Amino acid sequence: MSSNNHDLAALIRTIPDYPKPGIQFRDVSTLLLDGPAFRTAIDRLAATFDPDQIDLIAGIEARGFIVAAALSYALSKGKLILRKPGKLPGERVGMDYALEYGMDRIELHIGAVQPGQRVLLVDDLIATGGTALAAVRLLRGEGAVIDQARFLVDLPDLGGTERLLASGVKAHALTSFAGD
Ligand code: AMP
Repeated sequence: MSSNNHDLAALIRTIPDYPKPGIQFRDVSTLLLDGPAFRTAIDRLAATFDPDQIDLIAGIEARGFIVAAALSYALSKGKLILRKPGKLPGERVGMDYALEYGMDRIELHIGAVQPGQRVLLVDDLIATGGTALAAVRLLRGEGAVIDQARFLVDLPDLGGTERLLASGVKAHALTSFAGD
């Protein structure tokens, strides 16, 4: 999965014990600081799927927005925003989920996605897959067709990509940090 992207993995900083003891926080902000590397990351992600099979790109707040916005700009695809609770001004639907370190909820504007639209899900990182699965359920609940997800980082020991696959979503990440 990550064998060709050691150059990008080397730019992702690890902060031990954040936000709580035992968590190795994989901080993509150091990759984002490197303009050419960020561009390379987006280009490589864009090369992993067929844009003709995608109608919208959905990003998960907040770091997922950065990746999804760049991809949607590069491919001229609409961007669908999945937000933290209380941020969306219009009528919304939401889904609660468990994180590697706590609970959270994501929300979506009703009507943002039309039934039958094909959505690519994007976030910076997949760990347990709880966030991505909540997003998949939320989007499918609104009638979206979603069978692909993309990430900068996979933490394979936490099983998120397998969980997504079991739900019919093929996940691909540019880099992989085993042992977390
Ligand atoms: P999960 O729902 O367990 O797959 O967690 C994925 C979400 O939590 C992503 O939005 C990540 O930004 C964040 N996250 C979880 N674990 C980490 C970690 N070890 N380092 C950085 N971000 C993380």
